[in-house]
Amino acid sequence: MYLLNEKDYIRNILAAKKKPDDLSMGYLINLLSKYYYSPESDAVTLSEIVKEQILGFHLDNYQEYQYHNKIISACQELFEGTADTSLKQREYIPVYEPELHLIHSLPGDRQRKLMFTIYAVARYMGCDGWVNKKDSKGILEIFKLANVTATSEKRNELLHEFYTRGIISFGKRINNLNFKVHLEDTGEIVYKIRDFNNLGNQYIGNFKQGYRQCKSCGKAYKVKSEKDYSSRYCEACAIERRKSANRKSMTKAREMKKCVQSHVS
Ligand SMILES: [Zn+2]
Repeated sequence: MYLLNEKDYIRNILAAKKKPDDLSMGYLINLLSKYYYSPESDAVTLSEIVKEQILGFHLDNYQEYQYHNKIISACQELFEGTADTSLKQREYIPVYEPELHLIHSLPGDRQRKLMFTIYAVARYMGCDGWVNKKDSKGILEIFKLANVTATSEKRNELLHEFYTRGIISFGKRINNLNFKVHLEDTGEIVYKIRDFNNLGNQYIGNFKQGYRQCKSCGKAYKVKSEKDYSSRYCEACAIERRKSANRKSMTKAREMKKCVQSHVS
């Protein structure tokens, strides 16, 4: 899960008193401990606050002892200085001109979408261009974010292709789970990623000639007419929107009629 603004996110969750399904317990603990961290306090006090807040979510099957160690270590790390104490508050992830230039130079849409995403994830991580994933699920997540469907064999092939092109380098353990890209901070910012979803489609919709990204479903679609350019919705969503607009105006007309009739009678 990638969040640009962790502070707003956890604040909203606390206000709603509901844990989103896609938020892992580990990340929730992390966010809560940072949110309630204060340098004047201590790890034990903080861990009590975190536990109390988690109880407030009334999670099904939640048993505190299962997360006890995780909560304690998350809190200790903050006071020991081994973890960053601040929550991320970023408006956007920038894409720089030389990066976009490299992406454009790749041979196909799949490669371009993937590379756009790799740059974004590497910059999000903030580890000098490193993308570290624990397992193949983490790599799969990157491909999903890139809107690239591929078998695990094909995924490795694509990463290997980037490696032979000299665009990415692998860590000491060659398992395709840790790799590094060269982040280029020079030149103009040509794109700002404000929504960390459907990154591949964002690339296609904004940079591939004749394509747009649907404002509603996030899919990239081919523009067929001038109208498609201005509407910013894919065909399916445009039809759906027209239908719902018709429904609304019909309901309105019916209500008006009723109103008129009741006044007449
Ligand atoms: Zn759509």
